[in-house]
Amino acid sequence: MTTVWGAPRAAYLLALAIAREDDQGRSELWETVSRAGGETDLVIALGAQARLMSRAAATATGKPFDVPDAVWKRIPCPDVRDYSMAAYAGGELGTPSFSCARCLRIAAETLAGLHLAAMDAAGIPRTWLAEVCARIPEADEPVTPSVPDAGAAVGP
Ligand SMILES: [Zn+2]
Repeated sequence: MTTVWGAPRAAYLLALAIAREDDQGRSELWETVSRAGGETDLVIALGAQARLMSRAAATATGKPFDVPDAVWKRIPCPDVRDYSMAAYAGGELGTPSFSCARCLRIAAETLAGLHLAAMDAAGIPRTWLAEVCARIPEADEPVTPSVPDAGAAVGP
């Protein structure tokens, strides 16, 4: 049974750590998420946040926020790559069957990077991430991710 551990908050924290080039913070966050078995939840939350920000970027610039194929090709395992693209696109997400921890981390950091790129395109300063992290609940409080329930409860 997975406890609610605040995937959306962790997703913002990961983007913040990358924005600050805080490699230690990034690694510690990933270890915390992995211990909770929350890698897939994190990828879903990151996909949703990047998608929302890409819409903000499109609104701000008046043109679509395009993601180059090269971005997705950074994720070596095809199943993890496909899942990440689906998380970003916001479509149906099946129950994940992959187990490549390395690719999951690459996927998470790729989506967080997309979130940051979309923020830049939208003209939103990086300090906004810190404000969001301060505002949303800690991991022990219930959080309802703003993504469709994909039946993605992750357990050990
Ligand atoms: Zn892999």
